[in-house]
Amino acid sequence: MFEARGLMVFYENMLALNNVSLQCGVNQIVGVFGANSAGKSTLMYTLSGIMLDIVKKEEMAGRERITVRGRIMFNGEDIMFQKPSRRARAGIILCPERRRIFPECTVLENLKIGSYLATASQARETLDYVLEVFAPLKRILKRLGGFLSGGEQQMLAIGRALMAQPKLLLLDEPLLGLSPAIQYLLSKAVKDIRDHRGMSIIVSEQYARPIIPIIDYGYILENGAAVVEGGRQELMDNPDVKSAYFGT
Ligand code: ATP
Repeated sequence: MFEARGLMVFYENMLALNNVSLQCGVNQIVGVFGANSAGKSTLMYTLSGIMLDIVKKEEMAGRERITVRGRIMFNGEDIMFQKPSRRARAGIILCPERRRIFPECTVLENLKIGSYLATASQARETLDYVLEVFAPLKRILKRLGGFLSGGEQQMLAIGRALMAQPKLLLLDEPLLGLSPAIQYLLSKAVKDIRDHRGMSIIVSEQYARPIIPIIDYGYILENGAAVVEGGRQELMDNPDVKSAYFGT
């Protein structure tokens, strides 16, 4: 249902994505693992279309030239050069790295901002679900975003993305900088979201360990290229993957 083919991204002459192809089926969770600078955020920006805005911004400012190539098919249509806003309306929603919640808005306001693509009844129903799957948010609805812990911020960031009614949710390093206990809680929540909300999810992380139990399929990115791919068990059994991403 979602397929990227031969994605290439050059920042000036630096190759950030090198011929990356990936697929995510309906209701699947797909993991993308890679070290710092492997290209995870570049991939997420390309899939969501934000990269097109970055390209335009850089061009207008007369700064670096970014070149983007490849195809992205979503429900049979090539959306590679569709604006991010149009992709969002079609259900491709990015939850960006480092949360990017609005610090001067309350938790509830942050969630409501996310519902700009939802009908009133969808927004009410999704809010109920968000406060069920991320129960700690219920007690802090009036707190400002800037006064949340890292874990609360991440719950809020994912909750806000859910309010936009995703069909394909892109999670860029959602566990970054969080404690193992919170990582466990969040990865369980991501699985719950897939199981109960009927959506596909592509999640990137540096370390595979907390996410691999919930994925159906995964890719390893190295220097911008997808060097290994496979099902959950296949990746867990791969000695190279084990040593690099499980720390064993
Ligand atoms: P991290 O875990 O550090 O976020 P990442 O896997 O998300 O890493 P990217 O942020 O996609 O990696 O970066 C991939 C490569 O492209 C890196 O070498 C990075 O320095 C480079 N890069 C990213 N953005 C730009 C840019 N705007 N201009 C030039 N180079 C960039």
